[in-house]
Amino acid sequence: MKSKKVCRVILRTPRMRRVRNNLRVILKLAVKSELNRLRHLESLYLHKKRRNGLTPSQQKRYSQVKRKRSRLYFRYIESTLQCGGSSACYSFQEAKKHGFNPQDRPTDLDLVWVPWLENWFCIKCFVLNRLGEMTHEDFGDPVKREWVREEFGI
Ligand SMILES: [Zn+2]
Repeated sequence: MKSKKVCRVILRTPRMRRVRNNLRVILKLAVKSELNRLRHLESLYLHKKRRNGLTPSQQKRYSQVKRKRSRLYFRYIESTLQCGGSSACYSFQEAKKHGFNPQDRPTDLDLVWVPWLENWFCIKCFVLNRLGEMTHEDFGDPVKREWVREEFGI
């Protein structure tokens, strides 16, 4: 997402929430399946590389697979398929208390785009972590701090 403004995507009708959740589950399964396939391919190339070395074309293909997996992984992490709060997500922690599989992440959440963090967060993480009240001083990295100050004026 490229928006420079905070953007809330809140669905109020149960039917639309169900549709969104089902789509997220399907997309998540597809992404995880592709990530597993790429991870397996990468491990085969790595094994061959350690045993016999790789030909130049195999080395090129190995680099392509690593790049593709890395790009897909980061796109997935920054997607609307789950909260950017990862395992620290308040909704995830609460769902775990009610028996939710700790290996998974909730997919039924309304999300908020936080442009200075370049990620989507659930409403609970957005509110409880006060992400909407952040300023450039909240960023440790001086380059990021300057970028946030200039880009968003916060
Ligand atoms: Zn969250």
